[in-house]
Amino acid sequence: MTPENTMRLLVAVRTRGVLDTRVLTAIEQVDRAAFLSDTFAARAYEDVPLPIAAGQTISQPSIVGLMTQALDIQPRDKVLEVGTGTGYQAAILSKLARRVYTVERHRALARQARDIHAGLGLTNITQITGDGSFGLPEQAPFDRILVTAAAEDPPGPLLAQLREGGSMVVPVGVSDHVQTLIKVTRGADGYDYEELSPVRFVPLVEGVEHD
Ligand code: SAH
Repeated sequence: MTPENTMRLLVAVRTRGVLDTRVLTAIEQVDRAAFLSDTFAARAYEDVPLPIAAGQTISQPSIVGLMTQALDIQPRDKVLEVGTGTGYQAAILSKLARRVYTVERHRALARQARDIHAGLGLTNITQITGDGSFGLPEQAPFDRILVTAAAEDPPGPLLAQLREGGSMVVPVGVSDHVQTLIKVTRGADGYDYEELSPVRFVPLVEGVEHD
């Protein structure tokens, strides 16, 4: 990660509306190339999604930034991420939160993420293979939940695992190209829903792949 390509990435992310300096600093600290295969590592600092194993994608840095900014993570927060991929977003979250739990349905990706996080010395992330739409009841409640795959509706178990005063960011929508990023906040007597921006994510899929 040279100063030039880090700067280029930060400019692209800022241009798309990520202005929270804590989030920008986290993006600056995490080398995205570490989460990509040799084939794509050279393109790590472009603001585009790129292929990873199991037919999945690493998220676009500006979308990672916007979702992280919308979550407004506090230093003591316990965060759940659904859809680890190779663990880039989880690494960004780990710079801002006390503890991150991340769930991935492809065993091979969860393992890869574990190795990458260990290599980067990120010790406050727990990687779990599982169907994240059920959340992690044994670790609930969470202060923040981030879903990085698109659901038809915010999954009920995840809403239930949100602490009062906590919030969840999730892309919703059935079609491949019409999805909306929404922020759900849990209040004393219910949930408040806010639409953030149009996005495009791979779908949230049921079950686990032992690949
Ligand atoms: N957060 C990743 C983006 C990964 S793409 C990053 O930082 O780049 C979304 C991921 O969600 C894929 O790896 C996909 O396998 C995973 N996924 C889809 N449905 C899931 C489910 N029900 N439970 C857990 N992971 C799921």
